[in-house]
Amino acid sequence: MKMELDLIQEMIKQVLEEIKEEGVEVSSKEEYGYGVFDSMVEAIDASEKAQKELFECSVQQRDKFVDAIRAEILKKENLEMISYDAVEETKIGRVEDKIIKNRVAAENTPGTEDLKTRAITGEDGLTIEEYCPFGVIGSITPTTNPTETLINNSISMIAGGNTVVFSPHPRAKKVSIKLVKMMNKALEEAGAPRNLITMVKEPSIENSKIMMESPKVRLLVATGGPAIVKQVLSAGKKAIGAGAGNPPVVVDETADIEKAAKDIVSGASFDNNVPCIAEKEVFAVESVVDQLIYYMKKNGAYEITSPEVLEQLDKAVSKENGKPNPSLVGKSAKELLALVGINVDDDVKLVIARTNKDHHLVTEEMLMPILPIVSVSDVDTAIDWAYEAEAGNRHTAIMHSKNVDKLTKMAKKLEATIFVKNAPSYAGIGVGGEGHTTFTIAGPTGEGITSAKSFCRIRRCVMSEALSIR
Ligand code: NAD
Repeated sequence: MKMELDLIQEMIKQVLEEIKEEGVEVSSKEEYGYGVFDSMVEAIDASEKAQKELFECSVQQRDKFVDAIRAEILKKENLEMISYDAVEETKIGRVEDKIIKNRVAAENTPGTEDLKTRAITGEDGLTIEEYCPFGVIGSITPTTNPTETLINNSISMIAGGNTVVFSPHPRAKKVSIKLVKMMNKALEEAGAPRNLITMVKEPSIENSKIMMESPKVRLLVATGGPAIVKQVLSAGKKAIGAGAGNPPVVVDETADIEKAAKDIVSGASFDNNVPCIAEKEVFAVESVVDQLIYYMKKNGAYEITSPEVLEQLDKAVSKENGKPNPSLVGKSAKELLALVGINVDDDVKLVIARTNKDHHLVTEEMLMPILPIVSVSDVDTAIDWAYEAEAGNRHTAIMHSKNVDKLTKMAKKLEATIFVKNAPSYAGIGVGGEGHTTFTIAGPTGEGITSAKSFCRIRRCVMSEALSIR
């Protein structure tokens, strides 16, 4: 028996030697971390090597690679696992909504079809302008959409011919590692170069700093609050910033109030209000505000009528500096109400309360299913107050109205990247609304609803005095 084993071992050794001599790379599956590295420097180096290999692949191959990511994520067991794990680890949001968000990220993020070549022809010949990769992209991602952003960015960036090094929020470390490995495995099975997506085992601010400073990282993308957007914009290289919002909703007397109420509750309670696009405060004209609240309550909202209880809740969910208490971000309405001794059923999805326009819950982006409602004399004032509450983020705004002039007025005044009319806010990212999905809405730097082309450089190729066939 021992002799047989020795013989087999010897044979394996010989085969491996032969393969090595033929120049085929040998490494065991155990040694290969599917894109997860001990150090940021290794993650960047591997990404740089992978990008050179990807650049040698055809655009059709890139298509195949992004399709492999989509197919892997869309397997029912994977969708459910990453959605569950994200909530379990971050303690933010609702599993059923994360499933929807992860699904649209996989299905509805554009691939290489987004990269349209421009051709200019004339007596001087033919010039083309094409979307080309930057190279290695460093992407910093939020706790609130941890898996959604990884899926969405990976598809967009790889479709653009780039590789990506992620720096996820440390609070979403485990699920990010699992997802990066899952996507790399699927990519490898589809014949893609290894390490198209990398990250470090221990994400941290220090590791993000190494990434931001590395000359090998050619483009930085930050999806998060104002601090990290400012950081990447000060890094001395091209950066895309997808920052915070505080989306207001205006409801005027021409709106279908019953539908508006239902849509607002759906949007504001989606994933417990953590999406940056979710409804954060309502300005309703006084002639319809009672009716609006009535229908909101019929659709899963709980109204706090006592100003004292509201102040108690506001205090309980806020830090001393007025910022939301991070451990309560993305908690359910039921859990938040329990903080002030109110016990409700699971079908309560949203807390609502009447406030004045300068209330802390109106002015601060809380990322919790607590929605202040402000009564306003007329629609023009409502638009002005919505503009104030949005505070120049120019991120997202929502309006329920059938008056085209007022809809136009609000759209123009707020200059938001996303303006949703007569629907829940999530219609703006392709859930029940036309258009592709993104989880990196780049307002501050202007790329808007990002897709593959947002992460590309435009390069011109000129053929002089020929190939114009008109
Ligand atoms: P956050 O700003 O706390 O964290 C975002 C990322 O930046 C994390 O990976 C975090 O580790 C990192 N980070 C934060 N400060 C840093 C620093 N000084 N140095 C290095 N890294 C740093 O945000 P969050 O709580 O995870 O996410 C919620 C915020 O993100 C909200 O303000 C929301 O509006 C915004 N957001 C915006 C978009 C968009 O597309 N515009 C999408 C999702 C979330």
